[in-house]
Amino acid sequence: MAELDRQSIETALDERLGELRRTRAALRRESDGGLSGELSHLSNHPGDEGTETHERELEVTTELFLAEEERRIDEARQALAEGRYGRCVNCGTEIPPARLAAVPEAVRCLDCQRHFEGLHNQHHSVDSGI
Ligand SMILES: [Zn+2]
Repeated sequence: MAELDRQSIETALDERLGELRRTRAALRRESDGGLSGELSHLSNHPGDEGTETHERELEVTTELFLAEEERRIDEARQALAEGRYGRCVNCGTEIPPARLAAVPEAVRCLDCQRHFEGLHNQHHSVDSGI
């Protein structure tokens, strides 16, 4: 296995985590104050209702995505601390350095990640009765 620069990976993960937390904090501030003041006057236009609902749904989706991303970065940092970083948590295969460079929080090889995401989707399908 190629020597990984642990320090720079840690820095990259920390930067991503910091960025993520700032985005989430900004998102929360926006949704808290979004309906007060001038914006509530604007939303009195009948035509704006649909847009507003859509924006709120988008916010929830973004929030979920960011929360998942934060969880993955935490997982990668833990793997790094325990010396497991760079290997797939599922099958133990070495994760290609190119993948780690592009996705520093990757803890699974591409195959296992696809499988993992597939399992998640299946759970959702079970919930909806399929
Ligand atoms: Zn794997």
